[in-house]
Amino acid sequence: MAEAPADARTEDRAGAAGAVQPPAVRVQGLWKRFGEQVAVAGIDLELPAGQFVGLVGPNGAGKTTTLSMVTGLLRPDSGRVEIDGHDVWQDPVAVKSRIGVLPEGLRLFERLSGRELLAYTGRLRGLPGEEVDRRAAQLLDVLDLAGSQHKLVVDYSTGMRKKIGLASALLHNPRVLFLDEPFEGVDPVSAQTIRGVLERYTASGATVVFSSHVMELVESLCDWVAVMAAGRIRARGTLAEVRGDAPSLQAAFLELVGAHAGASGQDLEWLGGAR
Ligand code: ATP
Repeated sequence: MAEAPADARTEDRAGAAGAVQPPAVRVQGLWKRFGEQVAVAGIDLELPAGQFVGLVGPNGAGKTTTLSMVTGLLRPDSGRVEIDGHDVWQDPVAVKSRIGVLPEGLRLFERLSGRELLAYTGRLRGLPGEEVDRRAAQLLDVLDLAGSQHKLVVDYSTGMRKKIGLASALLHNPRVLFLDEPFEGVDPVSAQTIRGVLERYTASGATVVFSSHVMELVESLCDWVAVMAAGRIRARGTLAEVRGDAPSLQAAFLELVGAHAGASGQDLEWLGGAR
């Protein structure tokens, strides 16, 4: 479970595969402060390509801030990010053509229908109209949104919003897909649908990077995990490496981030007592 140099881990994996595959994402010395608050404290990270990668950590660990900087939505105070070998801030157009993003607090064009939103996104991505129509129809079908495609996005449920957001992020067939809490507020049926689409996508060699604090989900989905706490990377590696001897990822996670006594609620002696 101990930290190992990212390069060593990447070399191990590449060695096993017989060829050196560059990382999907390379982060070097990334820092972000908000006033006095250090949100991300100089992280170095290499995320392997073609894998389902989970970024996990407790509330306030810095996951969203990290993903925002990695995807070019937030400028770091210092540090570098490369995606597929392209620098996020020096070469933003190349990077944006290679990534799809489903951010936290997803903002969508509410007065468009789901279908119109995909048509707009596809044209913005420079895809020919016919191709946009073809891909949009398939995505709507697979994500079980075909029946609601003419409804306005403002009338979509939380799960439907996640799914149309995912369809928009996938439309241009990115190499790396970033998802911030993709399953939050999503019912088990929709979660299964989303999961199926993501599994098919990674099977084709693409990379999914997603953040979550639901350990069971991460354990069942991810090949590779990075654990963040207080703005730093506390562990990284394959699921088995990060889990170590712990019985579950949840147990390893609690050990790594240091669950404290107050978390059990023992200070709240008045709660549930005589009124
Ligand atoms: P969660 O799981 O709760 O979403 P997180 O791991 O995504 O948490 P971040 O949202 O990245 O964590 O926040 C990391 C730290 O940075 C927190 O202490 C947060 O309060 C702070 N922070 C994040 N964004 C801002 C901002 N725009 N202004 C000030 N502080 C911020």
